[in-house]
Amino acid sequence: MGNLKNKETVTFASPQEMCQYVVSGERDLYNLETEDYIFKYNEGGSIAVYNLSREEAEELEKASEGKEYWGAYLGVGGSIYDDEDYEYRTCEETNMSYFKKNFEEGKWIDVTPARVEKKAWWKGFMYSAFHGLDEYGNPICKDVAIYHCSRCGRKTVIQENYCPSCGSKMKKEKR
Ligand SMILES: [Zn+2]
Repeated sequence: MGNLKNKETVTFASPQEMCQYVVSGERDLYNLETEDYIFKYNEGGSIAVYNLSREEAEELEKASEGKEYWGAYLGVGGSIYDDEDYEYRTCEETNMSYFKKNFEEGKWIDVTPARVEKKAWWKGFMYSAFHGLDEYGNPICKDVAIYHCSRCGRKTVIQENYCPSCGSKMKKEKR
């Protein structure tokens, strides 16, 4: 039945990994068994959770044509789980409490619309790094370039094409 069958299944080794996937990676997920649909709700890291029957989910996938996220078609009825550190946090339960309960539950599929290509770039910074001691016992420091992912903040010395943390495709030209 429907298009959702062809979607990629995603598994998580820990609640933290799931949090990184949804919040840093801005990926939308639907669970074929628990029927929860979740997506990042705001820049503070809150997530929205809607319980949608398989039928509703299939309809949303059809309506969005894989170009718009399902949340755009949904009204009130979802639950919000704020990040623990979110300055406007209102609810007792946090995004992490949701991930803890659900990271191993059922069968998660990635329903992020294709149009939303996650773009980021490596931001370069010069750091003074310790390179051992000279013959008089004074520290030797050398400047090295460290790059931060503009989306998730991961640090690296190699500018890879994709960020290994959040999966963003990295643009080369921008600094
Ligand atoms: Zn990243």
